[in-house]
Amino acid sequence: SPARSSVIIVGAGVSGISAAKVLAENGVDDILILEASDRIGGRIRKEDFGGVAVELGAGWIAGVGGKESNPVWELAHKSGLRTCFSDYSNARYNIYDPSGKIFPSGVAADSYKKAVESAIQKLRNQEANHETDVPRLSEPPSYLPPLVLVWLYLKNQLLVSLIFIFTFEISRCYSAPKTPIELAIDFILHDFEMAEVEPISTFIDFGEREFLVADERGYEYLLYKMAETFLFTSDGKIMDSRLKLNKVVRELQHSRNGVTVTTEDGCVYEANYVILSVSIGVLQSDLISFRPPLPRWKMEAIEKCDVMVYTKIFLKFPYKFWPCGPEKEFFIYAHERRGYYTFWQHMENAYPGSNVLVVTLTNGESKRVESQSDQVTLKEAMEVLRNMFGPDIPDATDILVPRWWSNRFQCGSYSNYPIYFNHQIIHNIKEPVGRIFFTGEHTSERFNGYVHGGYLAGIDTSRALLEEMREEERKSENQNFLL
Ligand code: FAD
Repeated sequence: SPARSSVIIVGAGVSGISAAKVLAENGVDDILILEASDRIGGRIRKEDFGGVAVELGAGWIAGVGGKESNPVWELAHKSGLRTCFSDYSNARYNIYDPSGKIFPSGVAADSYKKAVESAIQKLRNQEANHETDVPRLSEPPSYLPPLVLVWLYLKNQLLVSLIFIFTFEISRCYSAPKTPIELAIDFILHDFEMAEVEPISTFIDFGEREFLVADERGYEYLLYKMAETFLFTSDGKIMDSRLKLNKVVRELQHSRNGVTVTTEDGCVYEANYVILSVSIGVLQSDLISFRPPLPRWKMEAIEKCDVMVYTKIFLKFPYKFWPCGPEKEFFIYAHERRGYYTFWQHMENAYPGSNVLVVTLTNGESKRVESQSDQVTLKEAMEVLRNMFGPDIPDATDILVPRWWSNRFQCGSYSNYPIYFNHQIIHNIKEPVGRIFFTGEHTSERFNGYVHGGYLAGIDTSRALLEEMREEERKSENQNFLL
């Protein structure tokens, strides 16, 4: 029979590594880490592109300079990771229309202010509705207009029903952003700068500053530094047999006595406990089956969490044609289609002379580009750049399109809980099922979606597991005593 470990950790992203470190520090060192891919890091992933190290996943240390210290910022500091301060707020003054003109800063600032105010108002309405549990004011229940129409029609009031339809449509359009600049700002506000309108713990607790990791060793260097404190390493490589790469876990069979883990290559591993650190998207997919199946409360909670897709596309050019300078790092393209190659960043601050641009897409647009060839994506991006900077700019010589959504070990970029979500959901997402403990950024109530969320979740889960192990030990000592 296979050797039995105390704990098997599934996944070697930041949460899996931080969980393993806490166990090792507390004397539990007969652990086994099973990682599906051929590397550690998960959604922290560096790749060499166009002569520099680019971050396909997490790129920023978000939440710095506040009342509490962000633990990931501390790790970066200790490891000497090179970072650059990022100031997104300038992006609103670098908004290009589809004919290449920059919106005057007054217009941009005005639209921005209005968009923030309307977003705050919308949130207040939602908050009020949430508290009183009445339907949202800004979103009338969809069955209302048809009912009113039927009633008016039955009363033979055709003219009144037409007026009703007209007013209803106008009121719907009124609050929705519709011009290219409004759409662009709405995209930036909701897909990037939520911190300005939503109370996000990361910015409240850790501070509002964000630092871009700009280090040839990559953001993942932090994980190697953490791993080398408890795993055997040599020449910057992890050589410890307790970390097994290319091990895709497909089944967890669990009982009162332990857990049997089966991998895609037919290997079987036994453990007293399992810590499962795979993403919420993977939990929603059918990659891992549970025997017996997970209880209904768990499945329902997993299904209720939204998965965001966030894609950074990198483009390499023979030379720079975009404006550079301290307030020009980010620029925006205002298109009539929301989120269409909207948010751009040049890498000159991080890597001077790299001639690399990054454009970020999210959700529907991310899924669309993931399903098409990179050549088509390159063509689309070049068309947008030529609209902004003129027909004479050079073609990109290389493109890199990460595919977080189609990657079966990720199935998306990060978790997203609605702001006024039911706290029971996140509680149930992280609650253990028998001997299976759950961790990962999606189990962090305050910091889900961030690297520090994953890091802190790993610590929390291991502490809870250590408590459970001590409890089990106490029980068995008592039993032995009684015998
Ligand atoms: P993961 O890193 O996903 O680790 C889970 C591991 O499990 C993976 O290594 C995976 O390969 C493995 N796995 C999956 N299935 C199996 C299986 N069946 N068997 C074995 N192993 C399996 N955060 C920030 O703080 N700042 C940012 O700027 C930022 N930007 C981001 C941009 C993008 C594009 C993405 C994708 C994420 C970004 N994040 C950012 C979020 C951050 O990367 C994550 O919150 C964090 O890295 C998640 O860590 P984790 O350990 O929870 O999960």
